[in-house]
Amino acid sequence: MSAPETNTALNFIEEIIEEDLKTGKYNGRVHTRFPPEPNGYLHIGHAKSICLNFGLSQKYNGLSNLRYDDTNPATEDVEYVDSIRDDIHWLGFTWDNREFYASDYFETLYQKAVELIKMGKAYVDHSTSEEMAAQKGTPTIPGTPNAYRSRTVDENLDLFERMRNGEFNEGTCTLRLKIDLASPNMHMRDPVVYRIKKAPHHRTGTQWPIYPMYDFAHCISDSIEGITHSICTLEFEVHRPLYDWLLIELGMYRPQQIEFARLNLTYTIMSKRNLKMLVNEGFVTGWDDPRMPTISGLRRRGYTPESIREFAKRVGVARRENMIDVGLLEFCVREHMNLIAHRVMAVLDPIKVVITNYPEGQTEELETENNPENPDAGVRCIPFSRELYIERDDFMENPPKKYFRLFPGGEVRLKSAYIIRCDEVVKDPDGNIVQLNCTYYPNSKSGEDTSGIKVKGTLHWVSVPHAMNAEVRLYDRLFTVPDVGDIEGDIRDYINPDSLVTIANAKLEPSLGNAAPELRYQFIRKGYFCLDKDSAPEKLIFNETVGLKDSWAKQQVKEG
Ligand code: ATP
Ligand code: MG
Repeated sequence: MSAPETNTALNFIEEIIEEDLKTGKYNGRVHTRFPPEPNGYLHIGHAKSICLNFGLSQKYNGLSNLRYDDTNPATEDVEYVDSIRDDIHWLGFTWDNREFYASDYFETLYQKAVELIKMGKAYVDHSTSEEMAAQKGTPTIPGTPNAYRSRTVDENLDLFERMRNGEFNEGTCTLRLKIDLASPNMHMRDPVVYRIKKAPHHRTGTQWPIYPMYDFAHCISDSIEGITHSICTLEFEVHRPLYDWLLIELGMYRPQQIEFARLNLTYTIMSKRNLKMLVNEGFVTGWDDPRMPTISGLRRRGYTPESIREFAKRVGVARRENMIDVGLLEFCVREHMNLIAHRVMAVLDPIKVVITNYPEGQTEELETENNPENPDAGVRCIPFSRELYIERDDFMENPPKKYFRLFPGGEVRLKSAYIIRCDEVVKDPDGNIVQLNCTYYPNSKSGEDTSGIKVKGTLHWVSVPHAMNAEVRLYDRLFTVPDVGDIEGDIRDYINPDSLVTIANAKLEPSLGNAAPELRYQFIRKGYFCLDKDSAPEKLIFNETVGLKDSWAKQQVKEG
């Protein structure tokens, strides 16, 4: 990975870190962590957090841990654990042997809870969740203590041990901290820190019938791992006093929690609950459907780690909620595609052209460059013959003025090949155009053109006898409104019914028969594409990665 630019302004988290480095607050250490809950696949919002956490440790020669926040066995699964690991590696980050799990600390966490009970700072409560809610008050009305709150330490120790031994049913009791029922911060009003859950855990099996809550597990895990800067999204700002309270009461090393604004993207949902709904209800084919904002979806779509990291860098970090135009992400992808994609020819909606003055059975190999942006990309040969496909919409029978593509009597250049003229339009009995009869100028070959003919249009084409058939999948946004988060009512009503258009029989130049999954292609004049993971030699499948048109950059120019 390239070194961070030295002359860019610091973001507010970097400012905090540099100040801490100056004052020696953490003895010059920078140690971050990325703490996913393995209850779904990672999405582009997580990618931002990953780039931030791992990026900071790279920039400051520090460390970054991967820590699974696996405290809720009911919703978690190894499938998610594995996908998260894969996705972060794919994004380009590593964590050596520092792959941790909150469940690694279940025993320690339990002991910390016992310590708090002994200090008179935690109690076992048998209230139902409804009762608890009723006792909790409102931000302006203090909560009311219940009888359990004044239990003796011994009683609490005994009950908590029995909770741990599985003597109580789910929902019958919890362990709560005894902090302040009048606190203006509702999270400080005796928060629940342990609950009973009898679901088997993917790592600890049935060893534990009780599980710590996020607020309890997170700060202690951070502390155990020696995290210096515990970076999280803004909604945790109100949890920070609890984070600090716990570590201070327990006399433990205390990292600094820092909150930043989560990434919101237009036309995109990032709630795992909703992403799961899309998968479970069949709106998409899976978590890695190329329309999904998941890392696995973006990857299958052809997005590159470089483009996602660049996007994260351009988005930056802010303290205030904002909404990023998904066009910026597409812009970053397009920029990278422009550098790396091989230019190839694919006809998505073919119409046949017959070059009547080209000898039947003859084929010639014409040289064309793979990528004008990259001199190292080299050249390849494409076969030319008497019968070709061109794009149906590159021909018009009655063209308007200044139409530079093909029309009766008109001339165009075929990319890397010859200039042709359209002589005759062949129609079926229903009047549909089925074939264009053309003649070519033998002395107009690309690179050695002596014909003197000037044409304005260049068309892509594929030789009929050499063409590979392929399924090509074109994608549009999954949602029809920019601010999906603001939808009142059912987001299902805003799913774009045309987010996937499948072209069953596109015609590709033969080199694409050997397409490699890691390569990116520009289908000239059409967009950027990549091989789908389900593609097979007998059935080629390509995904559209991103279109060629850059609406985002244009808009910036207009606005700027
Ligand atoms: P939930 O907690 O609802 O299951 P989550 O998206 O918060 O969903 P986590 O697995 O807890 O999922 O997230 C892991 C980390 O990623 C957290 O530190 C979280 O703050 C961060 N994160 C999640 N969503 C975004 C986002 N949209 N932008 C930036 N960071 C995010
Ligand atoms: Mg979360």
